[in-house]
Amino acid sequence: MKSKGIHCSSFLKINRMFFASLLWFFLAGFPLSAQVKQALEEPAKGNSGRWTLVIHGGAGGPARGTMTNEREKDYLDKLNEALQLGSKILANGGNSLDAVETVVNFLEDCPLFNAGRGAVLNENGKAELDAAIMDGRTGMAGAVAGVTTIKNPVTAARAVMEKTSHVMLVGKGAEEFAENQGLQPVDPSYFITPERLDSWEKWKAKATPGKNSTPAEKEKSGTVGAVALDLKGNLAAATSTGGMTGKMVGRVGDSPIIGAGTYAKNNTCAVSATGHGEYFIRNVVAYDLSALMEYLGMPVAEAGKRIIMEKLGQQKAAGGLIAVDKDGNIAMPFNTNAMFRGFAKSTGEHEAAIY
Ligand code: ASP
Repeated sequence: MKSKGIHCSSFLKINRMFFASLLWFFLAGFPLSAQVKQALEEPAKGNSGRWTLVIHGGAGGPARGTMTNEREKDYLDKLNEALQLGSKILANGGNSLDAVETVVNFLEDCPLFNAGRGAVLNENGKAELDAAIMDGRTGMAGAVAGVTTIKNPVTAARAVMEKTSHVMLVGKGAEEFAENQGLQPVDPSYFITPERLDSWEKWKAKATPGKNSTPAEKEKSGTVGAVALDLKGNLAAATSTGGMTGKMVGRVGDSPIIGAGTYAKNNTCAVSATGHGEYFIRNVVAYDLSALMEYLGMPVAEAGKRIIMEKLGQQKAAGGLIAVDKDGNIAMPFNTNAMFRGFAKSTGEHEAAIY
């Protein structure tokens, strides 16, 4: 009996040690992987065959009547192309992360928008880019800021999320990381378009030396973003930008700040913001929207309006946001002249709009 007892207790001891070291291995060695693993093991909720995509190409912009019809058409065509790209992924059962990344890549490559090629220029006449992406299913996020040689910053942000244990990489470190990941590097001049150079020269001519001036409303627009709900009920958000014309070297806006310009959580919503970044950071806009829904049960459209029209409106903070909730309801509020935007749903409803 005695010897059996000894055997039993040492067996238990060995077992305890085994499980303790297993637990330590996961907690200390791979805390983030364990979190992702748990989320991945959750059964897919399913979404009764519904998907939704919402995109933006920046708030601010010209007042109605100041853009030529051709120019308006160019913007609407690109927004529609972006919607088609993302819709195809979602309709074929693709995931929301792939949809938002693909859409944002497309808009980054399009010189009309203030992201990737066509980004606005900082006080030194250089494009410094910020981007972020967030997965509402796992709660994981990635971001890059102040990068000057990464062709598609949002893809670098996704690599930060998926290939590192960090959330944000900035400047040189982000650029080296992106190159090591095989992402396409470009010369900084790739981003500069004649139109942005012209805006920068106009800004420079008016800028007071030593004083950081605020760019005109129409020079601020063009940031791009996408939010999506896929067939499995998973939400994702992505945002990419050149920031604001004449911004100080090293200035980082709200777009790559998780909870300010970009946020996604499966049981509330996915959000991408655009506008005067400093206000969006101070008001933690994207997370605020999710919190209003989570804690007060506020519908997404009402929460969006409350933040953009009331809260930011009272602070004279210009901007807007796009959001989709877990049931596919959307919000696209803006308090500026215009916000390039659009949405598409599995129901067949779709729209691209400016004013
Ligand atoms: N939110 C961006 C920033 O402040 C700019 C914009 O959306 O227009 O960097």
